[in-house]
Formats: sequence, C-alpha cells, structure tokens
Amino acid sequence: MTFARQHLFSRRGFCLCCLGSAAFNASGGWLTPREVFAEARGIVSLIKDSAAVSPIVTHKLRNNISVLEGSGGNIAVLTGPDGKVLVDAGIGVSRPQITKALADLGADQVTHLINTHWHFDHADGNEWLHSVGAKIIAQANTRKHLSEIQRVEDWDYNFLPSPPGAIPSEIFATEHSLKLNGSTIGLKYYGPAHTDGDISVAFAEADILHTADTYWNGIYPFIDYSTGGSIDGMIQAADTNLAITSGNTIVIPGHGQPISNRFQLKEYRDMLVAIRENVATLKKQGRSLDEIVAAKPTAVYDAKWGQFVIDPGFFTKLVYEGV
Ligand SMILES: [Zn+2]
Repeated sequence: MTFARQHLFSRRGFCLCCLGSAAFNASGGWLTPREVFAEARGIVSLIKDSAAVSPIVTHKLRNNISVLEGSGGNIAVLTGPDGKVLVDAGIGVSRPQITKALADLGADQVTHLINTHWHFDHADGNEWLHSVGAKIIAQANTRKHLSEIQRVEDWDYNFLPSPPGAIPSEIFATEHSLKLNGSTIGLKYYGPAHTDGDISVAFAEADILHTADTYWNGIYPFIDYSTGGSIDGMIQAADTNLAITSGNTIVIPGHGQPISNRFQLKEYRDMLVAIRENVATLKKQGRSLDEIVAAKPTAVYDAKWGQFVIDPGFFTKLVYEGV
C-alpha cells in the first residue's frame, strides 16, 4: 500500500494518531507526516514496525492502578487478586514489552480487557491478551467494527475482521459495571464522539477516569468520521468528561501525556469549542475549505496543540467536515 500525498490531508485518515506516536517512539523525535509518508510503506506495517521497538513506560497512579505508555493509546491497568484488568490493548507486536511491564506490576494473570473503541492502536493486542485469559468487554458498535471488514476509503485500506479470539465477548449499549480488586469500574457510552463506540472507564474509589480518544492531552485530536465521529460529538464528550470529574480526579487521555487532570481537560474543551466556532463562521460565509485553512482559524492554539501529527491544517479539515 502506498500513499498519495493528498491522503495525508484527507479527513478520514484512520488513525494518524497511532502513526504519530509510533513514529515518535521509533525515532526519538517527531517525524513530520511528510517524512513518514516518504517511507512509502503501508501505515499499518509502519505502526507495527515502530511499536515492535518502542519501550513501554509504566506510570503508577493510585489504588493499584497504573498506566502503560508506548504502544498506541494509553493503557490503564488495575491489579489484584481478581486478576489484572486492562483498559485497551495497544498494538500486538508490543506483546513482549507489555508482558514484561505487566509482570513487573505483579504475578496475577490478565482476566479482563476493556476496549474503549475499535481503533487498531487500542485493540490490535486483543488476540494475544485473550489467549492468555482476558475476557474482552466493549460497547456494541466496537464489536461490530472489529467483526466486519472496515473500509477506510481515504487510505484505500480494508481492515479485515479480527480473529475470533479478538472479538469482545461481552458487550453493552450504554452502561456496564464491574467490581474487581476492590474497585468499582464504571463503563459508560459517550454516544458518537471520536467514533461511534467510545466509552469512558471510571475507577470510582481511586477517582481515576480513562477518557478513551475523546481527550488528547495537549495535542489536536483525530476524529474518525468514517465510523461515526464528529466535532460536535467530541465537544459533547468533553463536556461529559468535565461533568464527571473533580479537581482531584486523575484523567487518563487516549493519547498525549498519560497523566492529566480536569484543569487540562477544560482547556482542551475550550480549544475545541473556539476552533469549531471559528471554522463554522467561515463556512457560513461561504468560504471554501482551502480558503478556511488559509485563514488559519486555529492560529492562537497552534503553538500549544498543533505540534503533533494532527497539524493545524488537518485539524481544520476535521472540524470543517462536521459543521
Ligand atoms: Zn482512536
């Protein structure tokens, strides 16, 4: 699979997020999208190759909950006698590093895996985690996307149905609750936001919230319109995240620095709202997408948020698509 330059700027790129973090980890510095595409290789194999050599960094939070950074999205881990509970699976080729990181957290086997949504950089590790004993839990739309061929038009790429062991065996529509290792774990559907299957995962006693990819800490987010995401859904999810957190909550974002808080969440939400308004105003004036990108409706936010693979122009297009 090779990529024409315009694919990079198309609005439906499946997971430029994973590309960015993988490229960063592999090289020790930011690769620009152009450099990455100059590799002229398939994005999925690029991500896999990069993840295969990326280290996993473990951050201990509180109440036997940690977060693993370095294989796709941020992975939360709850440990204890009921077995380890993972929130997201990372990329399959990271298995050796993740196995070691998990072993360092204790000898209990993995018994539960929660998928926050269907994307490759959060669910590719499903198969091996299931093979070592994890029951996989997800929102119904996530199982649907993992079960079927998922065509991503702009990448000219078909994600094949996941192997049987990788398919979530327990699904729910809006809410689900687990009681494991002394923790009450609340799973809640956001409604369509980053995709149409995103869920939050809240550890009640520890006051820790994993936001899935509805929140990217310090970087413009990817929005997957090809499976039901939208800018307005992202803003709604950000409002939900603010409503269910306090100043004491530890917030785990889908991407970006893995330990965050409500203050940063609020900044992120305000950024989304302001850029949405700027883009909507220009679109209402009848300006074309190219004119809107040239008008730089994200300008005041770019220094802080635009330094990752979702650059200001690409993020403008993602917002334009939904207003
Ligand atoms: Zn995602």
